Amino acid sequence: MKVTFPHLGNTYIASKILFDGLGIDYIMPPLNNKSTLELGVSYSPEEICLPFKIMIGNYLQSIREGADTVIIVGSCGPCRFGEYCELQMNLLKDIGHPVDFIVVDYSKDIGKKEFLNRIQKVHEKSTKSNAQKIEAALRALKAINLIDGIESKAHYLAGYEINRGECKKLLNSCKSDVIKTNNPEEAINILKDYEKKLKKIPVDKNKDPLKIAIIGEIYTIIEPFSNLNIEDKLMDYGVCSKRTLTPSWWVKDTILKVFKLNSIQIKRASKKYLPYYIGGHGRECIGEAVLSKEEQLDGAIQIFPLGCMPEIVSKSILPTVSKQEDFPIMTLVVDEMTGESGYVTRIEAFLDMLERRKSNVLYGS
Ligand code: SF4
Repeated sequence: MKVTFPHLGNTYIASKILFDGLGIDYIMPPLNNKSTLELGVSYSPEEICLPFKIMIGNYLQSIREGADTVIIVGSCGPCRFGEYCELQMNLLKDIGHPVDFIVVDYSKDIGKKEFLNRIQKVHEKSTKSNAQKIEAALRALKAINLIDGIESKAHYLAGYEINRGECKKLLNSCKSDVIKTNNPEEAINILKDYEKKLKKIPVDKNKDPLKIAIIGEIYTIIEPFSNLNIEDKLMDYGVCSKRTLTPSWWVKDTILKVFKLNSIQIKRASKKYLPYYIGGHGRECIGEAVLSKEEQLDGAIQIFPLGCMPEIVSKSILPTVSKQEDFPIMTLVVDEMTGESGYVTRIEAFLDMLERRKSNVLYGS
């Protein structure tokens, strides 16, 4: 068995650490790029959402390198994500790649027995002892918490850094250094070192940069390639950005969901505008917009792929949120045809408007 997995933000770092720790053979697809997208688009249904297409590109790139098993997390809906694994499995079979899929779904949806069967498929391929397997899983968890923490601090501190570009440079070298090693323990130490280095970046606390929340469809906001690296762009502009949805947030949310204790703040904040679960992270998007206002951020950018059902609902509610909370929100819709220059123009225009608004509030004009 040679496993592979689709890219989703920083999860490749944790997955690498996990499979290295378990001693399971794996192929990590190249980081998402134009060829991944072109490959995915050429085999996917035209009307399916962008994450599906990029994931197909990931699988095909890994299959070329010898992968024969795909591991993904699943969901039983209600948006298209609930159908992803079935559709992807059939699509790959139809084009001559009948690879195995191990779909890690919620045990409440597929039953405890089936859930354990699927975990067993991975478990039995590892030659490590049970204690080593647990250690490998815990290390992967630690890694995702560390890298998400480093990333979110770097995105925020970029607005305060004295030497423009330092946070971005550090974040990029952290990501490239950590995947150079196949030793999970060393990888954790690399992440810890970078965590310390980040704390030493000189900042000017007297600055008052723009602060923006990135909200919207989880894949699109987490996976930099699909949002045309918006957080990198904001770092270049010296803007602080904040994103609640991360892989480590997802893990925590999934565990707490079992006890109905997940996203309490977000649910409270979204209650007035969207009190129901509508699939995807539509409710989270609304809750985060309200929370961003409460946290005195200057504005929010919602990003989602063309045709994303839950986010279309959120988009229709956000103008009301924006009006009632007096909080600027811009929506960006992306697909494989999105051109970078128009996209950048919209971001810059939004930032200009926020700057003007901020100085009007400060100087009362
Ligand atoms: S949340 Fe949106 S983009 Fe993601 S799978 Fe569902 S419909 Fe597609």
